[in-house]
Amino acid sequence: MTNRHLIKNACVISVDPGIGTLPRANIRIEDDRIAAIGTDVSAEDAVVIDAEGMIAMPGLICCHRHLWMTLLRGYVSDGTWSSYYVETFWGRRPLYRARDNHIAAYAGALEAIEAGVTTVLDFHDCSIAPGNADASLDALEKSGIRAVFSYGLEGAPNLTADTTPALEDLSPTEGWHRSEAKSLRSGRLSSDDALVTMGITTRNIEKLPHHCSEHDLGLARELAVRTTTTHAGGGALSMGMPFIENLRQGGLLGPDLLFSHGQSFTENELDVLADAGVKIVVSAESELGQGADPVTWRAREHGITVGLGADSVGSLSGDMFRHMQITLKAGRGSRNRILDAQGIAPIDVAMTAADMLEMTTMGGARCLNMEDRIGSLTPGKQADIILLRRDRIGMMSGARPEQIAVLQANGRDVDTVMVAGQLRKRHGQLLDVDPLSVQTELDASRTWLTEAYESVDLAPVWKGYERMIASA
Ligand SMILES: [Zn+2]
Repeated sequence: MTNRHLIKNACVISVDPGIGTLPRANIRIEDDRIAAIGTDVSAEDAVVIDAEGMIAMPGLICCHRHLWMTLLRGYVSDGTWSSYYVETFWGRRPLYRARDNHIAAYAGALEAIEAGVTTVLDFHDCSIAPGNADASLDALEKSGIRAVFSYGLEGAPNLTADTTPALEDLSPTEGWHRSEAKSLRSGRLSSDDALVTMGITTRNIEKLPHHCSEHDLGLARELAVRTTTTHAGGGALSMGMPFIENLRQGGLLGPDLLFSHGQSFTENELDVLADAGVKIVVSAESELGQGADPVTWRAREHGITVGLGADSVGSLSGDMFRHMQITLKAGRGSRNRILDAQGIAPIDVAMTAADMLEMTTMGGARCLNMEDRIGSLTPGKQADIILLRRDRIGMMSGARPEQIAVLQANGRDVDTVMVAGQLRKRHGQLLDVDPLSVQTELDASRTWLTEAYESVDLAPVWKGYERMIASA
């Protein structure tokens, strides 16, 4: 029997150029798909969702989020890139047990859903022991979010106190990574049509010898995952690295690649990436914090597909509305600074609010090579839909709905979230979630990690890190 929903009387921002924005319309959902959108759309035997006074829009897509860091919320708020690497990646990450991965992924996925994210790329660079991946996958499936689980190939560092570790010692990949990745791909992540699908997170191959790129990207291609992602072009630590040129010469660039950050890419490198169909996910709040101009505007000028990612709640917000606002303003600023330096007053903006919404929905879908199924409200696509309330005084009246949705809203204005036709949030409340048990498990894992961290010796890691800086 078909499961039908009818969203009635919403202001519909479809992000589909063929449909546009409809001031008042209905959306019929049948099972996991959008069946019809229009002013005269109706449905017999449907569960009716009254959206009077609300905006209906595609669910937001976060293309870069380390869900395991949900346990470290705020821990690196006042940190630097250096302390982030040393303390978070090489200090705390090796301590993670399967249960820590599980509760972090579960709480992180719920946080995303609560704020209107229907699809997340989980940058799971926390596969430091066999089984951690399965624990995170259990959590993603339990949460009901659509996810690309991007399996990480980096393990815990191999360090000895009396030597200075090489970069490969800081970011080793183990034999079990390869076998676990293969087993996931042939097992629970074999389908590319499921709600949770498989991607690969490589090591930070930008900083490692080229044979590491050949290994990690070779495995990703062997497994034929739709998206492979890595940190790249991330500021001072990336400047002058021949990474892009090495990948180009090795024939390793391709449209399955999604690079995170990218602010230090040169114009020439952006041309190379555009030619190869590589996508970039910006996390503007992160990049601004490093003192860099986010690459958003430059990448778009080069014809590169750009999406948005929240990155880590260890130091940043998990609210994609805030990320849209920061990214839009930073992107406009990138061009305005150039004009300003020439004594030219801008007479238009580099990106509109509607452009930003398109980037966060369809752009995100393209980044994940899923534009045929998500990213817009289009009949036939998956029913990933959110409703924004407008009865908060700060959301009342005002300009075009795209401008309100992008520049005035925040995650708390999300009334309803539907993923693949399933309601996950309604009337402002997550469904089928026990917040108290989430809190209890989070606290237990965080306490354990905090105590275990006290006996971690970071001295060898700092030595390896200083070596990495010297080679950058
Ligand atoms: Zn990241």
